Amino acid sequence: MARIVQKFGGTSVADIGRIKAVALKVKREVDAGHQVAVVVSAMAGVTNQLVEYVNGVNPIHDAREYDTVVSTGEQVTAGLLALALQEIGVQARSWLGWQIPIRTDDAHGKARIIDIETDELERRLALGEVPVVSGFQGLAKDNRVTTLGRGGSDTSAVALAAALGADRCDIYTDVDGVYTADPRIVAKARKLAKITYEEMLEMASLGAKVLHARSVELAMKRGVRVQVLSSYKDEPGTLVVDEGEIVEQELVSGIAYSRDEAKVTLVGVMDKPGVAAHIFGPLAAANVNVDMIVQSVSPDGKTTDITFTVAGSDLARTVDLLEKQRDNLRYRKLVSDAGVAKVSVIGVGMRSHAGVAQRMFQALADKGINIQAISTSEIKVSVLIAEDYTELALRALHSVYGLDSD
Ligand code: ADP
Ligand code: ASP
Ligand code: MG
Repeated sequence: MARIVQKFGGTSVADIGRIKAVALKVKREVDAGHQVAVVVSAMAGVTNQLVEYVNGVNPIHDAREYDTVVSTGEQVTAGLLALALQEIGVQARSWLGWQIPIRTDDAHGKARIIDIETDELERRLALGEVPVVSGFQGLAKDNRVTTLGRGGSDTSAVALAAALGADRCDIYTDVDGVYTADPRIVAKARKLAKITYEEMLEMASLGAKVLHARSVELAMKRGVRVQVLSSYKDEPGTLVVDEGEIVEQELVSGIAYSRDEAKVTLVGVMDKPGVAAHIFGPLAAANVNVDMIVQSVSPDGKTTDITFTVAGSDLARTVDLLEKQRDNLRYRKLVSDAGVAKVSVIGVGMRSHAGVAQRMFQALADKGINIQAISTSEIKVSVLIAEDYTELALRALHSVYGLDSD
């Protein structure tokens, strides 16, 4: 007997037919004698609609109320799946984040899980009941509902698997595994049988939304065995594993992209110590993550331009914050551009091989794609380009690194 956490994403629970199909997948594991806990997302499209409602009131809003609204999608699917399970003779009940509770910090809209209380779940699992948990949501210290960031149900599932000491965490989705690039854009992408935690973490952090980045971070830290697989097919998916488990390591194992990027340039800021801290301090305090940063050489030794990127969804807030600080920061002009995308190549093989970045820059140059910013780490190179060129860049890079399937 094993203990398994199964997570079903939005398309897997998109309608009643799909929810009934998911119930059968759960029943199969129960019938095999396993203890099963399930985590669900909202039905496909529902969370987007909820976010639109909130932005329709005001794009700059109270994040606590945002969470109250956008967490509701997962309540519907947890209840429906519990019902569908009961219909086919499986003992099940739904659990909202606050009922367990799944405790988080108070960073509304992107909260982190701190702790999951498991006593009651343990008791019921032992009796053969299947808990169906609403993903994406938690409870802050002040008893307000939080959400974990878009795509956060994966993190709910991995955190639950860790808390319950599960043998496996199966993430069921609409693709049959992790590919060398988003298979919806790169037709020649290849499915990976295994990927290292580290590479998966980079891929996810850099936009490959097949897994929520924090779920991978948590899986790596807590040693949770994660598998990504299709809810439509009966085939093994991709296992996320330690580096030692991969026999032949490619130089580059994947290419990721993110369109949820925006570029902000502060023109004519003072070129003196403390200015960067001055600019980025208030953004950090407001929970805005700044990603790439480029400071241009000061032509006159007095002023300079600072360009940086934030998530597209944070742009309105960022501009608002910086405009409020205008007298303080004394910049000449603020320019923002939401029409950018970040494209990244990832591979642990980069640690021991030179020339990966150069190949990337050349491939983009050959396609006439201008690079607006660059950032690197030990196992990845990212560039910021005009959003219109995203697909062209992805396909070109996929070929250049020899990743195309035959
Ligand atoms: P779910 O609703 O099941 O959580 P998501 O839409 O969040 O599903 O994630 C699955 C999607 O991730 C796929 O449909 C695919 O388009 C996208 N994706 C992006 N990069 C990759 C990749 N490297 N491998 C597989 N899927 C990817
Ligand atoms: N429903 C949430 C979202 O769309 C969480 C998730 O699907 O993982 O972002
Ligand atoms: Mg997802």
